[in-house]
Amino acid sequence: AHPEIAGIDLVLTDPGGVMRGKNIRREELLAIYRHGRYMPGSILSLDITGEDVEETNLVWVDGDADRLCHPVPGTLLPAPWRTEEPTAQVLLTMHELDGRPYHADPRHVLERVVKRFTDQGLTPVMAVELEFYLLDPTPGPDGRPRPALLPGSGQRPRHIEVYDVNILGEMWPVFAEIHACAKAQGLPAQTVIHEYSPGQWEITLHHRADAMRAVDEGLMFKRLIRGVAAKHGMQACFMAKPFAGRAGSGMHIHLSLADKDGNNLFADGDKPEGSALLRHTIGGMAETMADAMLVYAPNANSYRRFRRTSYAPVAPTWGINNRSVGLRIPAGPGFSRHIEHRPSGADANPYLAVAMALAGAHYGIERKIDPGPPITGNGYEQAKPGALPQHWPHAIERAERSAFLKEYLGKDFFEVFLAIKRAELDRFMAEVTELDYQWYLRTT
Ligand code: GLU
Ligand code: MG
Ligand code: MG
Repeated sequence: AHPEIAGIDLVLTDPGGVMRGKNIRREELLAIYRHGRYMPGSILSLDITGEDVEETNLVWVDGDADRLCHPVPGTLLPAPWRTEEPTAQVLLTMHELDGRPYHADPRHVLERVVKRFTDQGLTPVMAVELEFYLLDPTPGPDGRPRPALLPGSGQRPRHIEVYDVNILGEMWPVFAEIHACAKAQGLPAQTVIHEYSPGQWEITLHHRADAMRAVDEGLMFKRLIRGVAAKHGMQACFMAKPFAGRAGSGMHIHLSLADKDGNNLFADGDKPEGSALLRHTIGGMAETMADAMLVYAPNANSYRRFRRTSYAPVAPTWGINNRSVGLRIPAGPGFSRHIEHRPSGADANPYLAVAMALAGAHYGIERKIDPGPPITGNGYEQAKPGALPQHWPHAIERAERSAFLKEYLGKDFFEVFLAIKRAELDRFMAEVTELDYQWYLRTT
């Protein structure tokens, strides 16, 4: 099929969610399916700036030995936004030479958590929602990035453009191409909306009864959105909070559990609060949210998103048809009963964020955790301060002490992930920033 394809992008995802890999010629592809492809293990243990994490010698401990990468079945697909030459793309996973999963590959973390459900005959049914900004590739007059806006847009009071269909219509050339590329890749792209702030967008993917597939597609979709935006002279930005005072970008995770026949086990007739299994899931997700915050909000910037009345959650609360909580049960008929898990930023690694949301579910179901009564009314007013780590260093410290995280990430991945985050924090704190000068140069 596709005789026109000349090259293939091989793509792995590192713990920070950065996609890394190489481009090969078509002739090499068959050999990869037969024998795999060697790549250095270090590309999955760099920090987000691409620096190797010297503190723990992650790279040099074995002389940066090669590992063996295998294609993820069903992900070899055309990448139509790559118009320089006809190109395809395939996702890979990394293994030790003896076949064991490579410990720093985050995709294996999700696989292990999903298996805990499928072993019990439970099927996670999942979707991710992606929020992002489209940026103007040239900085604003202040030298900072700025949203790509239509003339006259972004001038009016905050939020006035939310769900604006006129702007949506004028931007449609980009979204039409996103939909066309998604179709070529079989990605179930659904609804597009103009989000709360000018230049901010959201596209949803339809749920899948296969969590691995749903998350692979989430990653493929992010790369596709970036590629199409670039073709239209814009930059797609998945930072959690690119602009102070404007909406941050989240990655909501929608989840239910089905039995072998596809029945939704979260439904209890049309009851809005769903089944006992749903409530135990909420109980576990809520109880483990603070420990897993570093996964949902992995970067210094992630924590700027959690502001009251920002629609980003500030406490591990739950509610029915209520957007001011961490865990929402959306309104809808019984058969569609599910949880919207809201803490993750658009900058979270989707493999890890979904793995830890599912891990929370597993934890709650095993212990039959009662989540208590739902929040009604404004959840921001009822949020206990400090119920979730409010800053990056707090989240790192909390994660380092977490038996939950160690168990569900797996000890080896846990150690790599924490070493990377520690190293990033140290590097971040070592910088002297503009703000240091603005605040302290003359005052102290
Ligand atoms: N942008 C919000 C966040 O950062 C979510 C908005 C919404 O509810 O769609 O999580
Ligand atoms: Mg949204
Ligand atoms: Mg949502």
